[in-house]
Amino acid sequence: MNPDTSVCRRCGMPLAYDAYLLAAEGRPSSPDPAQCRHCATGTEIVDRTGQSADNKWILDLILRTYQAKSSRGTRAVASALGKLPGALPSGIRSLTDLVNSVPEKRSGSVDAMVLYSGGKDSSWMLIELAQRQGLNVVAWMLDQGYQSPAAIKNAEALCNKLGVELVIAKPERDPMDTLFRLGFGVNETDDPDLIRAAMTYGSACWPCFATIAAQATLFCRDNDVAFCFIGTQKGQNRMDLAGSPALSGGALPPVTSLLDKFVAPMREHARATAPDSAELLATADCRSVLIPFYEFVEKPPFPEQIADLERAGWHMPRNTGACSTNCMMNELGRKVMRNQYGFDLYQIIDANERRLSDSPEPAPVAALDEDAVRRGAKLMELTPVERLKFGVDE
Ligand SMILES: [Zn+2]
Repeated sequence: MNPDTSVCRRCGMPLAYDAYLLAAEGRPSSPDPAQCRHCATGTEIVDRTGQSADNKWILDLILRTYQAKSSRGTRAVASALGKLPGALPSGIRSLTDLVNSVPEKRSGSVDAMVLYSGGKDSSWMLIELAQRQGLNVVAWMLDQGYQSPAAIKNAEALCNKLGVELVIAKPERDPMDTLFRLGFGVNETDDPDLIRAAMTYGSACWPCFATIAAQATLFCRDNDVAFCFIGTQKGQNRMDLAGSPALSGGALPPVTSLLDKFVAPMREHARATAPDSAELLATADCRSVLIPFYEFVEKPPFPEQIADLERAGWHMPRNTGACSTNCMMNELGRKVMRNQYGFDLYQIIDANERRLSDSPEPAPVAALDEDAVRRGAKLMELTPVERLKFGVDE
């Protein structure tokens, strides 16, 4: 049976995904077969973060609180500003809670690590952060075995130029590939929570991001890291299963908050089916808090962003597919998803962004870069049976 590939005519949300989530949450389905429930019921869009031009000043306030010997001044400012109506974009719930969640500066600790892929968004973020005076930044990358050589070259050149230390963690290939295969095969389990998570976080992206989140906590603990910056776009920051903004709790979330979401279910699945691979998902306690950078700093339009990056010596890789500027498996992961579920996670991310911005018509569902799909399949040494099953070969 072919999966349903239709999307909401307003926001572009895959309708199969919308229906799956609503059923899982025991909510009524959408009253309009051509729209998702969110659009069909005119659900009020309370989160207007996407429309606020620039929240950079809030990030400045966070970093100033961290640098200050006494945070009393910035806490007073936060408390006063937080009371002004309309001062806060509503994706950020409480300035006081935000400022109160800033960790203390300790000697010998790393101020900030960046979850760094070498791709365009984390590279642009790194440039912005490295220019902040007095902030000791380390770029931390997971090479899951499928980073484009061009992305690693970009990372090395950029870190060198910025004077930022680059740390690359490289897990063993076999257990890492096992995790990817687990992600690809989630649809064959009968666990609705696992399936929902794979749909939301991505067949290939979920195992990768779970490993990043887990191993980042080890680095955070060992280096007493205060801030962990993440360069996910706004639509991704709403990809927790409830679709709520990353900062809706008010405070900066602890890095360990990623563990329940991304790591624990994948680790349990791995422990039950391929225990060796579960070891890649070992975690540590740490005090680091997460800063979703693009909730605060507006990403420039694509051509400007690329121009900024190229001025800094970064070059667009040519082997990663349409939705990634670092990973050679990304397009294969999308193919697997479309074949199994009828959609891929980028459609969900984009739909979340459209809901934020109220922009009119959804873009048509774009075709995949089949060359990139086949390259990924070859790199991963998929068997002929797997290639058929995942739709790589017709
Ligand atoms: Zn919709």
